[in-house]
Amino acid sequence: MLDKVIADLCSGAGAVQGNLDPEATWLLSVVTDFARSSGLTFSFESGLRSPTRTRELQEQWDAGNRAGLTVRPASDSLHHKGRAFDLVADKRTLDILGDFVVKLATEMNRRFRWGGRFLPPDPGHFDVGVESWT
Ligand SMILES: [Zn+2]
Repeated sequence: MLDKVIADLCSGAGAVQGNLDPEATWLLSVVTDFARSSGLTFSFESGLRSPTRTRELQEQWDAGNRAGLTVRPASDSLHHKGRAFDLVADKRTLDILGDFVVKLATEMNRRFRWGGRFLPPDPGHFDVGVESWT
């Protein structure tokens, strides 16, 4: 499964599936390596998303159809800039990956965020913050 994530990212299928900016691509690859070395598996759900798609998801949420959604998507989502991605895994795996990303942010002095720390929590969500490296 992790091999598929990497293969998709490298083959261009990832461009369809993820289309992340370089910093988010880097974070996803580090999370993927960490998961692999820890024996954890996840699937990649989404990366870049259009504002139109976000509005559709908000309408879906507001209509009470919450399949595939943990929280109501934010209107100013970092998914619109390709600076966020969503992963699907069991709670324990997302907790471990989230703690890893939070520690990484502290150690590297970056703005990486894990949605598990949001209110309301969105444990499948990871992003690299508003500001880029450069
Ligand atoms: Zn997200």
